[in-house]
Amino acid sequence: MSVNLLDFNAKSLAGFCNEIGEKPFRARQLLRWIHRSGEADFAAMSDLAKGLRDKLSTAAVVQPPRVISDHIATDGTRKWLLSVGAGNGIETVFIPETHRGTLCISSQVGCALACSFCSTGRQGFNRNLTVAEIIGQLWWANKALAEEFENEPLRERAVTNVVMMGMGEPLANFENVVTALDLMLDDNAYGLSRRRVTVSTSGLVPAMDRLRERCPVALAVSLHAPSDRLRDQLVPINKKYPIKELLAACERYLESAPRDFITFEYVMLDGVNDSVSHARELVQLVRHTPCKFNLIPFNPFPDSGYERSSPEAVTHFRDVLVQAGLVTTVRKTRGDDIAAACGQLAGKVLDKTRRASRRSSETAR
Ligand code: SAH
Ligand code: SF4
Repeated sequence: MSVNLLDFNAKSLAGFCNEIGEKPFRARQLLRWIHRSGEADFAAMSDLAKGLRDKLSTAAVVQPPRVISDHIATDGTRKWLLSVGAGNGIETVFIPETHRGTLCISSQVGCALACSFCSTGRQGFNRNLTVAEIIGQLWWANKALAEEFENEPLRERAVTNVVMMGMGEPLANFENVVTALDLMLDDNAYGLSRRRVTVSTSGLVPAMDRLRERCPVALAVSLHAPSDRLRDQLVPINKKYPIKELLAACERYLESAPRDFITFEYVMLDGVNDSVSHARELVQLVRHTPCKFNLIPFNPFPDSGYERSSPEAVTHFRDVLVQAGLVTTVRKTRGDDIAAACGQLAGKVLDKTRRASRRSSETAR
């Protein structure tokens, strides 16, 4: 069976070259062809000897997930649905801004962590994505965007930032995610700086420590509540890794992080976690943790059971944080007309946990 070269970082590609009797520098050439030039056809890799190209054609493929659909919203946000086989699909979103372009990448088909306000969590879990399926999202996006921006200055580097904020919990798919991160950072591949690659986690404490050692990139932590009582309801993994342990892990992470703050994400749910007293509690909670806040007005999906906080509630909440000296931004909703906002990514998940079907039979009762 042929191997998929999109599964390899520089080190494993060098190992592969060794196995097929080639010198290590071939790995660098291959890496550049595949990731910098977006080339999937070995025959087109003109500076590789004919013999090697033939050898590669029999032993390997460059195979990203297949694009099933491609939508562009009125604000320029672009969303792809990619097939990852057996009826499963994942979503990837590109968000263009004036001075940067951010790609939001998925790490799993569904998510097992079941946060109550998250559409992906509601769908249950099927499996982890492979490295090829994770990095394949960036590979596709670069190719597609190069065509979209053919005559514009953005053409060369449409994706300047990556956020692991699509479907899934990246730290629950640790090895594959960090191998994909290696490629994002590799100068022979995508050459992004650590500060421009962000992993978002709901708070898997041991994996945060491993990430710090293995591949420290910018870290966003989904906090969403100022107390364990409330966070237990919204982010069930909190029962295993409560807030105190989570904040201690954030402080350890900062010792080797490329940025000197953690970004806390906080979804604003009407009447649930959005009062001024919640904001005051939050200020107390993070007083020893260098951080910034990103408030995310809840993005609705069918039968969520939640509503978005009013703009006034968001402003009052933000003011409390800002007055306490915390840098706070409110995330703009992008791609509304194509359901591309945070927490709305649905893809196609054949749920193995049967959570989604259990839920619908409960509501039917
Ligand atoms: N599993 C990771 C990353 C994916 S979710 C995590 O939980 O951090 C990316 C962000 O979107 C998280 O902060 C998540 O809490 C938030 N989110 C999930 N559902 C949402 C919704 N319906 N509206 C707004 N934000 C949501
Ligand atoms: Fe999973 Fe993140 Fe959604 Fe929670 S918010 S269910 S961790 S994807």
